[in-house]
Amino acid sequence: MLVYNGGMSDAYEVVIGLEVHAELITQTKMFCACRADFFGAAPNTHVCPVCLGMPGALPVINKEAVAQTIRAGLALNCTIAEDVRFERKNYTYPDLPKGYQITQYELPQAVNGWLEIDTPAGPKRIGITRAHLEEDTGKLVHEHGVSLVDYNRAGVPLLEIVSEPDMRSIEEVHEYLTRLRQLLIYIGASTGDLEKGAMRMEANVSLRPKGSQELGTKVEIKNLNSFRAVRNALAYEIARQERILRAGGQVEQVTLGWLEQEGRTYVQRTKEDAHDYRYFPEPDLPPLHIDRAWVEQLAAELPELPRPRRQRFVQQYGLGVKEADILTADRAVADYFDALVDAVGGAMPAKKVANWVMGDLFRLINESGQAIDTILVTPKKFAQLLKLVAARTINANTASQVLKTMFRTGEDASAIVEREGLAQVRDVAALEGLVDRLLAEHPDEVARYKAGKTQLFGWFVGQVMRQTRGKADPNIVRQLLQQKLQ
Ligand code: ADP
Ligand code: MG
Ligand code: ZN
Repeated sequence: MLVYNGGMSDAYEVVIGLEVHAELITQTKMFCACRADFFGAAPNTHVCPVCLGMPGALPVINKEAVAQTIRAGLALNCTIAEDVRFERKNYTYPDLPKGYQITQYELPQAVNGWLEIDTPAGPKRIGITRAHLEEDTGKLVHEHGVSLVDYNRAGVPLLEIVSEPDMRSIEEVHEYLTRLRQLLIYIGASTGDLEKGAMRMEANVSLRPKGSQELGTKVEIKNLNSFRAVRNALAYEIARQERILRAGGQVEQVTLGWLEQEGRTYVQRTKEDAHDYRYFPEPDLPPLHIDRAWVEQLAAELPELPRPRRQRFVQQYGLGVKEADILTADRAVADYFDALVDAVGGAMPAKKVANWVMGDLFRLINESGQAIDTILVTPKKFAQLLKLVAARTINANTASQVLKTMFRTGEDASAIVEREGLAQVRDVAALEGLVDRLLAEHPDEVARYKAGKTQLFGWFVGQVMRQTRGKADPNIVRQLLQQKLQ
């Protein structure tokens, strides 16, 4: 990946902290019984007096949303608070029907964690300041010169994850976001679907002279809806701050918006007009006490997380870190691979199995657009095919063809091999006959080979393979040719 530092020289160090909002996966909204999966629904159909903020309507805490927050907190190595409190954050905006948002402020659900990322200098921990639970706002739609509001999203459970100012480059930010998203998807807390707005980012960035320990004045860039927007907005902002500092000026502490089309930030708010949200404890909700035993149960139920799983793949299967990373990036892929290696049962080294998955299988999956957990080639079926390869019943080329058919029809490998007569020709006498005839028919090539044109060896092998329609055991063919051409 290209390392882009905003065109910056060595004089300054970049300091970045992120605030990430992730919609949680729950059946219902945060404080009412409305269905939370509003995507694609007609506007204002997933609403009720509670999420519309009608006077007298009472909120009820969604236990599953709390569980999801605790899961995320545990996965992020946070301390899980036993006493949490919901508070009102007061402000007026059309997408906020109540005139306040219910959030955790003084007593958040999870604090003091970290997330490990990869950097060119090795693994690095990014501190997690806090992860707290709140509710999403509605959505404004501006069209035909009017503004419309859709409250389907209002009250959907939202997790806010605040990092320490620990990132030092745009690459680290990208890596952090990628790992965070992967983790939330792994534990089933969020879909991480950026296109549907399930993950939204705010980036805080400042510059300081290299070697300085003090933090510089930061700006906050709001409403970043894609990793690309984060990258572009940060590059723009880093360059802007550097220009100011180089000219001897001072960066003003402001909140910025990002104009994706124009590729520039704009000032939304200065320090002077910072909001006073007048936080106070939500009077309609009791303080929440979290039972230790419940936290322990949620911890025990967490799946193996991507980092340790990657580590295990390296150790147990002898894979490289890159391969292990690819195979653990998606939980369903990692599950498939675990099951496959198990079913192959040592007949083929796991590293070779990995090549089959990342090569042929991924290609077929990508071409068909299917999800790995719904394909017809189950790990058991794939293992049967690989065992035929390991036993040299069929060669690798044939296996590729058989896999294609299996992928389409779901048939067993052995059935296809039998029906289409694909078993490898391993009859040494028969192959020897073919080799003898080939060499007799091509005295020129034999002479050139013996004169030193050793590249012709591959051509000889290819000829025998062609005559057997790809079914000859290439190892036997090679051995025979080596003997005869000496
Ligand atoms: P605010 O009170 O403005 O919300 P916080 O201290 O709560 O600021 O921090 C918000 C986010 O900004 C956090 O992710 C934090 O890591 C980051 N941050 C704080 N100070 C700086 C700084 N000087 N440079 C870059 N990021 C910072
Ligand atoms: Mg903030
Ligand atoms: Zn509702």
